[in-house]
Amino acid sequence: MTSRTAIVTGSTSGIGLAIAKAFAASGMNVVVNSFSDTAQDHAIAETIANEHSTEVAYLQADMSNGVDCRALVAKTAEKFGSVDILVNNAGIQHVAPVEEFPPEKWDAIIAINLSSAFHTTAAAIPLMKKAGWGRVINIASAHGLVASPFKSAYVSAKHGIVGFTKTVALEVATAGITCNAICPGYVLTPLVEAQIPDQMKAHDMDRETVIRDVMLDKQPTKKFVTVEQIAATATFLVSDAAAQINGTHVSVDGGWTAA
Ligand code: NAD
Repeated sequence: MTSRTAIVTGSTSGIGLAIAKAFAASGMNVVVNSFSDTAQDHAIAETIANEHSTEVAYLQADMSNGVDCRALVAKTAEKFGSVDILVNNAGIQHVAPVEEFPPEKWDAIIAINLSSAFHTTAAAIPLMKKAGWGRVINIASAHGLVASPFKSAYVSAKHGIVGFTKTVALEVATAGITCNAICPGYVLTPLVEAQIPDQMKAHDMDRETVIRDVMLDKQPTKKFVTVEQIAATATFLVSDAAAQINGTHVSVDGGWTAA
């Protein structure tokens, strides 16, 4: 993997950060991304670079903005000479009944969790085709396969990205490129922490009850998935062993979607 370059969108936290670290540990050049541009953001990239003796750059780009999404790919190609691996990971959540769902939250979730992948993928595919090799991984969700109440925008975006994954896979299949989705169950990241208060309100439950009866109730193992387990799945999907895995999803959900 030494000379390959990977972009991981939304990678200053949670799953994206774990994937960026795992890719750097495999010797890849990595672009860490988020919408902000703070010293802390750049320090995250520097820390990963120092730990793994690989090139890691922080590039600011707002994944709610299509122009920024495409510019992220162009800037990466300019800096590293290629974009071999694209992980569309940036995502946000909002929990509310559909009739109370704020339209601006709907728009933001569709833009960040779905449309960003369209823009980055559209910009990256020509570079991958030219190189004759590429990997696109979309971080979908168990909510890309099944629904839960109060998450209309998120479930719509995640179902959408599973469909997008299949379509792109068919289009690039003869070009040495694969496109797959990872569908995690509940992973205890800041995104999940942040929705616990909303779930408490929506279900009229305390924190422990939400974790046990709403979140882990769906996960037959009764354990949160770890960010490292998602990162290991992504690392496998970019390996040569996974070259014939295309247009599908890998569920890492403790059995949630088997029911
Ligand atoms: P997180 O909140 O820990 O991290 C999200 C990252 O995205 C952060 O780095 C944040 O800065 C970035 N981000 C947010 N808005 C952005 C924007 N407009 N532009 C660029 N970056 C932006 O969340 P996470 O739990 O690690 O989630 C990562 C992905 O995994 C999301 O797509 C999420 O839907 C998906 N997922 C998470 C879980 C879970 O249980 N945590 C389960 C299934 C799927």
